[in-house]
Amino acid sequence: MTTEQTVETRSFQTEVNQLLQLMIHSLYSNKEIFLRELISNASDACDRLRFAALTDEQLLEDSNELSVHINFNEKDRTISVRDNGIGMAKSEVVDNIGTIARSGTRQFLDSLSGDQSADASLIGQFGVGFYSVFLVAEKVELLTRKAGQEPEAGVRWSSDGSGEYTIENTTRVERGTEITLHLRKEDKEFAEGYRLRNIIGKYSDHISLPIKMLSSDEKRKDEWETVNKGAALWSRPKTEITEEEYKQFYTNISYDNEAPLVTLHNRVEGNLEYISLLFIPSKAPFDLWDREQRHGINLYVRRIFILDDAKYLMPNYLRFVRGVVDAADLPLNVSREFLQNNKDIDRIRTASVKKILNELKRIAENNPESYVQFWREFGKVLKEGMVEDHENQKTLAELLRFCTTHDDEEAQTVSLANYVKRMPMKQKGIYFITADSYAAASTSPHLEIFRKNDIEVLLLTDPVDEWLVTSLSDYEEKPLKSIAKGTLDLDEFATDDQKKAAEEKGKDLTGLVEKIQAVLSDRVKEVRVSHRLTDSPACLVADDHDLGGNLERILQSMGQDAPDAKPIMEINADHPLIKQLAPEHERLEEWSMVLFDQAALSEGARLSEPAAYVKRVNDLLTRASLLTT
Ligand code: ADP
Ligand code: MG
Repeated sequence: MTTEQTVETRSFQTEVNQLLQLMIHSLYSNKEIFLRELISNASDACDRLRFAALTDEQLLEDSNELSVHINFNEKDRTISVRDNGIGMAKSEVVDNIGTIARSGTRQFLDSLSGDQSADASLIGQFGVGFYSVFLVAEKVELLTRKAGQEPEAGVRWSSDGSGEYTIENTTRVERGTEITLHLRKEDKEFAEGYRLRNIIGKYSDHISLPIKMLSSDEKRKDEWETVNKGAALWSRPKTEITEEEYKQFYTNISYDNEAPLVTLHNRVEGNLEYISLLFIPSKAPFDLWDREQRHGINLYVRRIFILDDAKYLMPNYLRFVRGVVDAADLPLNVSREFLQNNKDIDRIRTASVKKILNELKRIAENNPESYVQFWREFGKVLKEGMVEDHENQKTLAELLRFCTTHDDEEAQTVSLANYVKRMPMKQKGIYFITADSYAAASTSPHLEIFRKNDIEVLLLTDPVDEWLVTSLSDYEEKPLKSIAKGTLDLDEFATDDQKKAAEEKGKDLTGLVEKIQAVLSDRVKEVRVSHRLTDSPACLVADDHDLGGNLERILQSMGQDAPDAKPIMEINADHPLIKQLAPEHERLEEWSMVLFDQAALSEGARLSEPAAYVKRVNDLLTRASLLTT
């Protein structure tokens, strides 16, 4: 019985379309990367077949070695790339090549800068690699048959990249995928042996899969020969690898064109044998904050690729590290679950983390400027380590950098060691304030007394800082103290006379304080006379064991319930607005509310009834102006 062959025409998803338009019309530089993408996919397909065959040997069908064959025809302007990897079923072709379920494409389109070469280098990062064929091709055909399926399960896919593709069933004896590019006239240069070999050498030399082309020697022109070196870079001795080779390898695995900040190549022998080649990028990748961000370590076992995204090889807070770990003694058929509970993997991870942190420490000491660069890119992520990695907390604490009241604006260059070194002898703690922005932190009323006494305060403005300060209770035996929490004990800076005077003032105001407290009883825990204000009339502080306003707001914005602890309001006995108040003042209620709302505003809170606040202030202002005119 013969089945009617039906050719279906389907449309690409909108976002794929946008991407294709861009490929075809706007990206002119670096077109050659299409070959890198195709070889990388072929290599993935072979890796996946090898991996699947560990549990189902029949998938290999024959004993042919896994390889990629690349051919071209100058006259027809075609290039073909054929692999004998895992192949695709029809539904997989539709899913993987007609649709992009991932958020990658959208993000890719959003992050285009308009700079040709930078944009082209983004293509691979977003997992939209296959479409780069349309950088050079006016028509592309893909033939594939999934490993383990009948020849009749073959699929033919074809598109000119202009919005639609066709797909049909076909018979294909060979397992795997073959992609044929019909080059545009202006891109015919790529259908040329020397050019192709050159591109392979540049991008794909380290791929361990043999990449084969027909011999360029006229006498042996029907013989296939391997054109890539294929030696895994990391397995070669350090001394024989040039900086350029390291950089090229880094670019191949990270799609980042900039040289890495740090390259760490390490061979460990003895009980546990492994090689690691790790890189710290100079710039943060676009998806550093994605929840589904892939981790950057690929795991190999004796040069055989096992899996990428090997989370257990690097803690979350070092997710920006890229590279390869090649372990000698792991079984080949390891699963992700296996890795999670494996002692060897744990030891490799622990040692790699130590290596990376030590290297960062070395840079921080020897090259502070380059460390500050690193910190600006990755500091926020590294701070997560303070919470995540107790074992290395001490080293991490030394790597932290902060903005402070004594540093250039937003410079983030002060280490805890610097801070402690320049602390006045009598100062007891390391003071900090948290807020949602540098502007809010640096203008907070809580800072007034510290500015007056010239005491340095750390200005913490990343959400993660709230967690950081709960895990880091002290540094060099100096406790970290929030300047917006608890009773402020700056006794060490006050003279006996000053202390006495403050006490007196407190007594004088007892009546007023009680009255204000009664008015605000459902908003505040307590009202008291402040020791921290010099310029502002009032501020809010949290009780020692409460979360504090900033953390409450962060938790709320993450959709978590934060215990809604009432703050304490402190008033400034020397401020004219407070001085004009008395327990029997006829507008005391309005004044109390306004003072409270202003204190909340100045720490970055939103008022629950902003219009009521505006009305009260306007009433008071009107009365004041009537009195003076
Ligand atoms: P990525 O490689 O980042 O996943 P690509 O656009 O390069 O993105 O490829 C999309 C998907 O198409 C791949 O994930 C894979 O599932 C499938 N694919 C592409 N090329 C091949 C191939 N030669 N063999 C099997 N599957 C392939
Ligand atoms: Mg790819």
